[in-house]
Amino acid sequence: MKIEDDVKLDFCDVLIRPKRSTLKSRKEVDLYRSIQFPCGTSWTGIPIVAANMEGVGTFSMAEKLSKHGILTGIHKYYTEQEWFDAYDHFISNGVQIENLMYTVGMTHDPYNEVRKATEILTECKGIKFICIDVANGYTEKFVDYVKHIRQIFPQKIIMAGNVVTREMTEALILAGADVVKIGIGPGSVCTTRKIAGVGYPQLSCIIECADAAHGLNGHVMSDGGCTCPGDVAKAFGAGADFVMIGGMFAGHNESEMTELNGKIPFYGMSSKSAMDKHSGGVAQYRAAEGKTVMLEPKGSVENTVQDILGGVRSACTYVGAKNIKNLTKCCTFVRVNRQINNVFGVS
Ligand code: 5GP
Repeated sequence: MKIEDDVKLDFCDVLIRPKRSTLKSRKEVDLYRSIQFPCGTSWTGIPIVAANMEGVGTFSMAEKLSKHGILTGIHKYYTEQEWFDAYDHFISNGVQIENLMYTVGMTHDPYNEVRKATEILTECKGIKFICIDVANGYTEKFVDYVKHIRQIFPQKIIMAGNVVTREMTEALILAGADVVKIGIGPGSVCTTRKIAGVGYPQLSCIIECADAAHGLNGHVMSDGGCTCPGDVAKAFGAGADFVMIGGMFAGHNESEMTELNGKIPFYGMSSKSAMDKHSGGVAQYRAAEGKTVMLEPKGSVENTVQDILGGVRSACTYVGAKNIKNLTKCCTFVRVNRQINNVFGVS
């Protein structure tokens, strides 16, 4: 047994220190980023990603977010036919297909997952991103799966995770991931820290994993734990290339969830609700590691988008950063007590 006692920080442990700046207005900040990935494919957009969860990563959400240049990780429970129908709708309505991300599951039947992915990605041309995510990205089996998917889709931008430490970030990049998805335990409907006692403070996770990834020409996506626009700004400030958001995007008209008693359900993908729906209940050898919350309806996601983008722009102007990449260079954090208000209905 060993104890690491150097300080590890969460979003709520810091604030961004303002600095003198030559920027005159928030309008001068450009949130778009153009990235050339190791697989050879490039993408231009705002590097914020709606999580590939039910209630968040829906086709309705993608239609709204793509026009802002924001990515949507489409959840893995749509059928082939639902994909083809949505794709036709997207094409006829001018939706930017390059802002969709396809999720490949890693179930007990990987052959079928790969077959489904190949069928959909062949038919739905223009999708650049593939996400391969599991709760625990530390297994050999997962690393081998990433290698396998890389061989099948040599030019897709692969986002893979989740891990929280340098050595596994490096391992996944060497296995073929362009972007490593980082975060274990910070999610608003995640209970892993309580059930398993496992996790890592998210701000430190970003600082350490980004350093490891950037040394290998890779990238990281901070996944989970953003409860307000300021947290998204802090994630970019710490070095995240992408920020994935679940709870802040949940509870909107675009959630494709049926309201219950005037509230919109939102549940973790490892919660009892999700397992009852998709896997015939929680298997006897495991415990649910997610919970269900009922959210006040938040209306259209457009308002939330404006808050998030406005918040990140504001952070950039406070430190004199013209764009998201510069935010990391210009950012100095000061440590504070944990006391930031949660105004976005997630915790
Ligand atoms: P949020 O933005 O809501 O704080 O975090 C979203 C992230 O939480 C997702 O992208 C995913 O990584 C994680 N997540 C979603 N459902 C579950 C779950 O049931 N259990 C755990 N441990 N994490 C979850």
